[in-house]
Amino acid sequence: MPPPHLTKFTCLDCRSTFKRPTDAAKRNVARAIEIRTCPNCTGAAYLMSSDFRAPPKADDRAWAVVAFLVRSGFAYFRIYEDVPLAAFGHPMRRPKGLLSAQRRLAYPETLREAEQFVRDYGHLALPFVDTRVAPGG
Ligand SMILES: [Zn+2]
Repeated sequence: MPPPHLTKFTCLDCRSTFKRPTDAAKRNVARAIEIRTCPNCTGAAYLMSSDFRAPPKADDRAWAVVAFLVRSGFAYFRIYEDVPLAAFGHPMRRPKGLLSAQRRLAYPETLREAEQFVRDYGHLALPFVDTRVAPGG
């Protein structure tokens, strides 16, 4: 049996990131955001895309953006949006056989951009799955 894939979890309370096995086949394919108990502070740790790069722990502004996005259902998985073919110019000048095109969205870096991002793409937010064990349970 192949070794289980390790998936990133990030705690928004103590800002630590750790890896745990999950049953997911691909680490950067969007799926429900699993919430586990942080082994460091027992806070809520969220499943993240392997694309996520944690900011320095002392960078409050960057972490405010990360926390806002993740709690809004955006854990840095790749998001693509359709690009209108008109963006490639007149039909006679487009690459031959081009039927559709998509571009990968860049994640916002400021809280103001993040708020707009969630307004624009809220329909793409991922659901949460809370797998934490209740105290005493
Ligand atoms: Zn923690």
